[in-house]
Amino acid sequence: MPLILITGLPTSGKSTRAAQLYDYLTERIAAESSSSSTPKFRLHLISDQSLSISRSVYDLDPAHTPAHVRSANASEKDARAALYGAVKRVLSPRDIVILDTLNYIKGWRYQLYCEAKNVQTPFGLVQIGCPVARARGVNEARIRRSEQQEQQEEEQKAGNGTTTSTTTTTTTAAAAGAAPKSGDLHPETYQQSHQNWQQKQFEEESTGPDFEDVTLSPTDSQEPYTPRSNWENLVFRYEEPNPMSRWDSPLFIITWDDTPSDTKATFDQIWDEVIVNKPQKLIRANKSTVQRDKDPGGDYLYVLEKETQDIVKRILEQQAEVGEGGTVRLSRSGTKEEGEEMLEVELPGKKVGLPQLQRYRRAFVALNRGGIGLEAVGTLAAGRLRESFVGYLNDAFEKEM
Ligand code: ADP
Ligand code: MG
Repeated sequence: MPLILITGLPTSGKSTRAAQLYDYLTERIAAESSSSSTPKFRLHLISDQSLSISRSVYDLDPAHTPAHVRSANASEKDARAALYGAVKRVLSPRDIVILDTLNYIKGWRYQLYCEAKNVQTPFGLVQIGCPVARARGVNEARIRRSEQQEQQEEEQKAGNGTTTSTTTTTTTAAAAGAAPKSGDLHPETYQQSHQNWQQKQFEEESTGPDFEDVTLSPTDSQEPYTPRSNWENLVFRYEEPNPMSRWDSPLFIITWDDTPSDTKATFDQIWDEVIVNKPQKLIRANKSTVQRDKDPGGDYLYVLEKETQDIVKRILEQQAEVGEGGTVRLSRSGTKEEGEEMLEVELPGKKVGLPQLQRYRRAFVALNRGGIGLEAVGTLAAGRLRESFVGYLNDAFEKEM
């Protein structure tokens, strides 16, 4: 079954939520399968820890690269390849995979989305909302703990038996406002407010409060991101999900402060939208030629020109709103009848311009201009043409990505 990515800043609480989601799904699957002897789904939690990937692979500073590693960047690439392989090995219509790693690169999320699409299994994304200062506080706490452990080990080795005085770092609680929640905000509004909020976090941090004092859970045993620049760089490199892109949707947000009942509500939503329901059916005609009626009528070529021009115009208009990788919705008849099915064009990952669209349009017109005078005109032919052109564009854009 589906692939669910967990994403968020380093040390923002991803693994905590991933484990909760794992437990939630385990229970739900058991409940769903109680009647039959074999569970309907198998569940997998794949993470950096489960594959023994060290935090140091994310450190891009060449000065810290171990001698045996090709380059600072290569270690992260290898880690991604290992994660990708692990997902690919188990992902199937019967397996639910939770991938708990940073998932911070847009292109990487796109690749995983395609993998899910390949095996015809749903896909979803859970973003963990956490103030930057708090996430940094977690890393600081882990650094502190591992320094103390090292110190204790050294003292034990030296055999001097004196007790270590634990150093307490003075911390200032950041006056960080709560992260915006996706709630019922329009995705774009949410994204904007989340960006503003993140920007504010950065500003606050450069001027005043540094990090929040965080108490690690007693069972926490994760290694910190070291040196500190490794952590800071990951925060800067983080590519915020865009819920308008199909590889970042559906997007669910869970924040650090979400109560167990908030979290359960989100998990229920994930269950309903990602696990149980098949993704929405899209109307995607794939034939690039239109089936024509043998009905006399003179202005087929005119309709062909007019409808394809209209679609080009609407795509350009809507692209400004939905952005690259977004989905453009178009009226099938071109007349916006109430309750009619809509056609969907999935834009490629980069902006499409007028010249490119006109190229596709001309190619499509050339393919379909034959047999003038033999075709049905009016809304029926127009609808078929529109559907066919949309299918043609979807194919063309898909090849482009
Ligand atoms: P990540 O996987 O993003 O690095 P973790 O899930 O390992 O982050 O969390 C880091 C630390 O923060 C852990 O000690 C964990 O107990 C604590 N923590 C994470 N999320 C929460 C939360 N929502 N409430 C309280 N503590 C949390
Ligand atoms: Mg983690």
